[in-house]
Amino acid sequence: MIIDTHTHWGIVWEDKYGTDPSEWLKVCDRHGVDMSALMTHRGLTINSDMKRCNDIVRETCDRSGGRLFPLATVHPDFGEPSLREFERCVNDLDMRGLKLHPWIQGFSTSGTVMDELCRLCGAFNVPMIFHDGTPCYSMPSQIGGLALRFPDTKFVLGHAGLLELWRSALSFLKRCPNLYAILCGPHFAGMTAIVKKIDENKLMWGTDFGFGWSDSIEYRKGLIDIIAMHDSKRTKIMGDNAVRIFKLKI
Ligand SMILES: [Zn+2]
Repeated sequence: MIIDTHTHWGIVWEDKYGTDPSEWLKVCDRHGVDMSALMTHRGLTINSDMKRCNDIVRETCDRSGGRLFPLATVHPDFGEPSLREFERCVNDLDMRGLKLHPWIQGFSTSGTVMDELCRLCGAFNVPMIFHDGTPCYSMPSQIGGLALRFPDTKFVLGHAGLLELWRSALSFLKRCPNLYAILCGPHFAGMTAIVKKIDENKLMWGTDFGFGWSDSIEYRKGLIDIIAMHDSKRTKIMGDNAVRIFKLKI
């Protein structure tokens, strides 16, 4: 079972296909990807309609024959309405996590409703997936800081530090038992170090597929495939951990 835990219903895909993922899924088929966690793309932009974008992600997943599962997005700087929207996403839309992108969305992890969002994710037992690896709002240390302050909530570094900050991601992953990572960003040496040194139950695989037309699955699948690891560890990273963390019924 291969699960891609970091994909987006890209603006270009949405504009061309609405909520029909059939062409999108053909790319997954080419690479043997069974399921994907789908996040919004348009919803990360500040002028977007939060509710509408979450509904679109839900509807796209509903049309995928069980191959896509949805993650919510809200804008923390909108205050109270973002908390209510997140509750709606979990309670009414059965979304399996909250994706936040402090860099594109332009908010600080110390903003006013962030603490409450962290508490809510803990109470719902759904993970918070952060874009990470880019200053000034998306440093692994800032997400790690939240993980230290909210030990009952699962935090996920969506890019494991990306290219420059994977060492910082590594040190926080070692330090925080409630901090997880998606291997989607570091180069070969960075990924190898993380796979070697971090608890195998805390790592997942992802591609960021969908942001545009390019096939990022090809590169990221090729990369993880050449990183040496025991088969049982690979099975966890490529799918089993995601089943547990996102509470998937398969
Ligand atoms: Zn992303």
